Formats: sequence, C-alpha cells, structure tokens
Amino acid sequence: MSDVYAEPATGADPTDPATLARYTTLRLGGAAGRLETATSADEIVQKVREAQSRDEPVLVLAGGSNVVIGDQGFPGTVVLIRSRGFRVVAEDADTVTVRVEAGEPWDDLVAATVERGWSGLECLSGVPGSAGATPIQNVGAYGQEVAETITAVEAYDRTHGAVVRIEAADCGFAYRGSIFKYSDRWVVLTVDFRLTRSPVSGPVRYAELARALGVEVGDRVPLADARATVLRLRAGKGMVLDADDPDTRSVGSFFTNPVLESEAYELLQERAADLGEPPHWSGAGDVVKVSAAWLIDKAGFGKGYAGPDGVAISSKHTLALTNRSGTAPTAALVALAREIRDGVHDRFGVTLHPEPVLINCTI
Ligand SMILES: Cc1cc2nc3c(=O)[nH]c(=O)nc-3n(C[C@H](O)[C@H](O)[C@H](O)COP(=O)(O)OP(=O)(O)OC[C@H]3O[C@@H](n4cnc5c(N)ncnc54)[C@H](O)[C@@H]3O)c2cc1C
Repeated sequence: MSDVYAEPATGADPTDPATLARYTTLRLGGAAGRLETATSADEIVQKVREAQSRDEPVLVLAGGSNVVIGDQGFPGTVVLIRSRGFRVVAEDADTVTVRVEAGEPWDDLVAATVERGWSGLECLSGVPGSAGATPIQNVGAYGQEVAETITAVEAYDRTHGAVVRIEAADCGFAYRGSIFKYSDRWVVLTVDFRLTRSPVSGPVRYAELARALGVEVGDRVPLADARATVLRLRAGKGMVLDADDPDTRSVGSFFTNPVLESEAYELLQERAADLGEPPHWSGAGDVVKVSAAWLIDKAGFGKGYAGPDGVAISSKHTLALTNRSGTAPTAALVALAREIRDGVHDRFGVTLHPEPVLINCTI
C-alpha cells in the first residue's frame, strides 16, 4: 500500500461517512457503497469486472487529487488503484520507453527518471497523484505536458470487456483533456512514456521557471536543477502536498484557463479596459487562453477569500480552492466555486469551467 496517497491510518469502513474524504486531497466526500483496493493491473480489471457483474456503478480513484466527491459519497464500488512500479520496455541510443503501472505515485516516477538521466518529465515534478491519472487530463505544468512523452496507454475497455492498447494519437490529448476525462469507459492500467537520454532538460518554455533558474526561455538546464526549481516554485504556491499546510488541501487549480475565440477576447478586453491587458497566451488557431487566476482576482476574489463553513481560496494561489478547516462539507466548496464562477461571469462575461472531475456534485 502506498504511503504517499491520502490514506486512513487503519482499515477503511466504506460505510463510514468520512471514508472517501480520507482518500482525497481536499478531504471531501461521503461514504462509498463498497471500497476495493487493487494492487496490480490484473486485480484492477478483476475488481472492475466484479462490480460490473453486480450491476454497480464503479468509481476509479487513485491519488484523489483531482476529484470533488459530493457529501452523499458514491453509491457503488470505489476501486482504489494501488499498482506500483515501472520497467523499460524499449530503448535505443537516444531514448528509453518506460511502462508505468497506473498506481505508481507520479512524483516518485519523475524523481526516478531525473536520477537516471532521462529527460521529459522534469518540469512535472511535484504534481500529486498517480501516473495512471496523468493521461486523463493530460497533466501539465511549467511548459511541459504528458502528451509530449506518452506513446501509448493500456486500458481496460469497460464497454467491450477487453484490455486494449491505445496509441497516443488516439488519446485525444488537449489542454487539460483527453478521451479519458469524463468517460467511464476506460480504466488506465499502464502508461508508456518515451524519454530522452540526456543530462539536461528540454528547452525551458515557461518564463517564470527560466527566471527562477537564471536562464533564458529556450535554454536547457541540468535535470536535477529543473526539478529542484519547479519543486521550490510549486511549494511557494501551495502546489506541493504538505499535510501541515492547509493551503494544499485542494485539487490544485480549481478552474481551467478559459480559451476564448478572438471575438470573445475582444469583449473581455472592453470589459477589462480599466485594468489593462489581461494576461493571456495565444493558442492554436484564432484562440486566446486567458489567466483564470487574474480573472478571479480582478473580479474581487483575492487570495484567502473565505467561503462558507471553513472553505477558502488558498492564501498562496488564487486558483486553488481549499478545505481550509479540514472539516468543511463538499456543499461549502461547491458554493464557493459557484460564487466565483458567477462573479467572474458578471464582471467579465467569461465562464470558468472546473478542472477536477465532479462526482455526485455539481457547480
Ligand atoms: C496541490 C495540487 C497541485 C496540482 N497541480 C497540478 C498541475 O500542476 N498540473 C495538473 O495537470 N494537475 C495538477 N493537479 C491535479 C492532479 O494532481 C492531477 O490531475 C493528477 O494527475 C490526478 O491524479 P490522481 O491519481 O490523484 O487522480 P484521482 O484524483 O484519483 O482521479 C482523477 C480522475 O481520474 C480518474 N482516474 C484516476 N486514475 C485512473 C485510472 N487508472 N484509469 C481511469 N481513470 C482514472 C478518476 O476516476 C477521476 O475521474 C494538482 C492537484 C493538487 C492537489
């Protein structure tokens, strides 16, 4: 059993109303109908098949760092993904392809690849959760995303009852999305990453990271430096899990950065005329990605803004909504999320969308 995921100290009672809260980084979520732990790919398939044969809904839960589970919990079987390990399945002079079990803690994998001199994941240091969940929303940070290195995913197809290999080109990777997100069909069993043998990182793409490293955007740095600097930057924003820091009792960014067509962006510019140019990045085609953190802050929801019953915006990052008291209900977090979404819409005419998967709750 992993010691890096949120886990209760003793054996779990699925009927305990706090059960799922104990498995999520927000510490939110009611009871599970049934709780199963799977420690290998075969066991994951077996547990999911058994639940399906009982006609029970199934929720796959790994690190619990990107889910908001309602106070009513989940009235079916929750399968905890706790398979571990990775192995090299292909290599040549320049690259190494590693096959990673779904339950492998993501940051353990990143640390191991940096140690071995395999480049490609270093800027994703410190992202909580499991390797198997990274394809779900195409995890990204500091200018890197897993779509750049994933070559294939092995998944259990619940619709056809078969284990299949899905090539990266068929994963539908997009900004914080893929075919796997919001779909009950696929259970990821392993993920293949092709990494480059190199003591240095890929070109640093993120301006804040380049500044912190003392290099120019486009430069390369030793892998260990990239990792250490990303971890330091993330910790300063409450984006590395720390049991003693209530700002990390979150799902990281609660909202995605809105992607606007040029017309919608011009409308935003008009409504924000008194505030200067909104921070933005040009996307593929005619779209502009706008900073959700800026919109939230300028709509009047600054760091530390308190919602009902002990929930609050993180004191370190405007995009993170936290269960600050540790005892809030999901309803309170959802109410805060709604207030922010509606406030941003009223002020700027832009609709924010949640990044985590909402289970038995809605904003
Ligand atoms: C402090 C903090 C910082 C964060 N920073 C980032 C960041 O920088 N970038 C980023 O992209 N994300 C970030 N996140 C979000 C989160 O860490 C990632 O999305 C992570 O990949 C989720 O992994 P998990 O194992 O916790 O998934 P879970 O929360 O357990 O599950 C998330 C979703 O994936 C599904 N799922 C999980 N495992 C599988 C599987 N094997 N097969 C099929 N479905 C599965 C679940 O059913 C659920 O729908 C952050 C979260 C926190 C708390």
